[in-house]
Amino acid sequence: MSTEIKGPQDLEKEVIKTDLCTLCGACLGLCPYFRVYKGKVVLMDNCNLSQGRCYSFCPRTPSSLDEVNQRTFGAPYPGDSLGTHLQVVMAKSLDKAALAKSQYGGIASTLVALALKKGMIDAAILTKREKELLSSGALARNKRQVLACAGSNYIASPTLEAFHKGAQDSYKSIAAVGIPCQVLALGKMRLNPLEDKNNIEKLSLVIGLFCTWALSYRDFFRFLKKEYAVQKIGKMDIPPPPANVFQMELPEGLKSIPLDLIRPFIRPTCTVCVDMTAEFSDLSVGAVEGLAGWNTVIVRTLRGQELMEEARRARVIEIAELPGANLDHLKEAALLKKKRALENIVKRTGSKENLLYLQGADALRPLWPD
Ligand SMILES: Cc1cc2nc3c(=O)[nH]c(=O)nc-3n(C[C@H](O)[C@H](O)[C@H](O)COP(=O)(O)OP(=O)(O)OC[C@H]3O[C@@H](n4cnc5c(N)ncnc54)[C@H](O)[C@@H]3O)c2cc1C
Repeated sequence: MSTEIKGPQDLEKEVIKTDLCTLCGACLGLCPYFRVYKGKVVLMDNCNLSQGRCYSFCPRTPSSLDEVNQRTFGAPYPGDSLGTHLQVVMAKSLDKAALAKSQYGGIASTLVALALKKGMIDAAILTKREKELLSSGALARNKRQVLACAGSNYIASPTLEAFHKGAQDSYKSIAAVGIPCQVLALGKMRLNPLEDKNNIEKLSLVIGLFCTWALSYRDFFRFLKKEYAVQKIGKMDIPPPPANVFQMELPEGLKSIPLDLIRPFIRPTCTVCVDMTAEFSDLSVGAVEGLAGWNTVIVRTLRGQELMEEARRARVIEIAELPGANLDHLKEAALLKKKRALENIVKRTGSKENLLYLQGADALRPLWPD
């Protein structure tokens, strides 16, 4: 890989102290130095390593999108709205237990549960909500454990720490479900030029989640705690536009908070993210505007396509054509995220020649701000 690999002190200086950390968890669980505490990554002590996996895996250190795309799909990074893909469909789970627990159509949980059942994978790295709205990475080996992780936590979670821990064990084939920054980190792990390969060859399936932004834990939690019994918050949701609200299930009923009150808690790093649909995944999964209970699914690899087909044959999912208007709108939203991020990056660096962490992204040139 042509990008320069530095060490943990540089990661702290360039990413953590500049508020670029996504809390993906890719730098955690590798050594005793980086730890997470209440939604923040902390370097516990001086580590003088000049090159580290922590720096190499981070989705906000220099990242060649072109090299990650080549490694994932054998094709150049297109820099278009949705990234490399074979088809876009909509789908929903036919599994009642999965539907009851999951965020929208239950596709992420149902596909992971099926892949485990059929022995295509022997473990999956998911995100589990713990006490006080904090989430962490969890390793699931069966449907019960998968469903315990179903549903979205809009607060960023250091999920990938569980990959580093899980991959050390005796598993041979591991899936991971994550938001775009986590999926980019997984792509960078596959490119890692350092000697320690980190068992990345065990990663055999990546399901990406659409994401516009994720929230910072501490201030958001403090904000909620002032008015709500946070330990009683059930499902959270951000329904597609024009709703413009953040919803939470509480014992007294559904509570909607205007999105404008939530926006101050968006992680600053999300404003420089060019990826809405987790472009380096086998399958990317999101909502379908105007059709509750369904997922949009971007099928990107043959492996992803085979899993969808297997799930249809096993009658655990239903697949349908995504209406053209939905596809158009998805593309528009994904392009808008790219344009806004590029504007924010150039505002931050003061130069179109310095795109912060983005390298090998010449394909994005047509979207550069004037
Ligand atoms: C922070 C965040 C922002 C999102 N923004 C959008 C958006 O703008 N537009 C859109 O269409 N969809 C968005 N999604 C995706 C959406 O909420 C659903 O996850 C997706 O549609 C899959 O639905 P499902 O019914 O198949 O999920 P399920 O079957 O319920 O599976 C959900 C999966 O999400 C994982 N998960 C939960 N919280 C997190 C987290 N914090 N980090 C990583 N993984 C997590 C769980 O491990 C679980 O495997 C977002 C998700 C997250 C976590």
